[in-house]
Amino acid sequence: MRYETSAGGVVVFGNAVLLLRKYNGDWVLPKGKVEPNETIRDTALREVSEESGVKAEVIHYLGAIHYVYQASWAKNESIYKTVHWFFMRSRTMKCFPQKNEGFVEARFVHMGRVLEMIKYPDERRMVQKGIDRVEKKDNEKDQEREYI
Ligand code: ATP
Repeated sequence: MRYETSAGGVVVFGNAVLLLRKYNGDWVLPKGKVEPNETIRDTALREVSEESGVKAEVIHYLGAIHYVYQASWAKNESIYKTVHWFFMRSRTMKCFPQKNEGFVEARFVHMGRVLEMIKYPDERRMVQKGIDRVEKKDNEKDQEREYI
């Protein structure tokens, strides 16, 4: 069994979440492998920037997901993978797919539509956590307004 660790971001701009479309049509979140001497937070920021061109700011850690896959490059050995996710904010909606990383489209998708597009259930759960946070903040603002 081999082990692999990656990190990535649930990046929001207003009520939209950043997604990337792979050449095979799958919509996924930006992520990538942790390099030596790099913190998972820095990996997540670097990968978001490299894969989508978005310079984001980390708000907080969301959690980790785990999955096992067989890799042809490792003679079909099982790879046990951990991916750490961070909630991030972008200041703009400007983004572009990094073609040489296998992405054909980058897009901020409205929170009302984003969950149904995401390929992997565990990535969907991370996005749901990010949405919950944004909605909680909005509710708090509404309550403050009522109070005033
Ligand atoms: P990284 O972006 O971390 O460098 P990678 O592109 O090398 O990763 P993965 O995206 O982990 O590789 O994909 C390896 C295999 O795992 C593929 O077969 C992919 O379909 C599958 N996979 C990717 N993400 C998930 C997930 N969240 N849950 C289950 N399987 C996944």
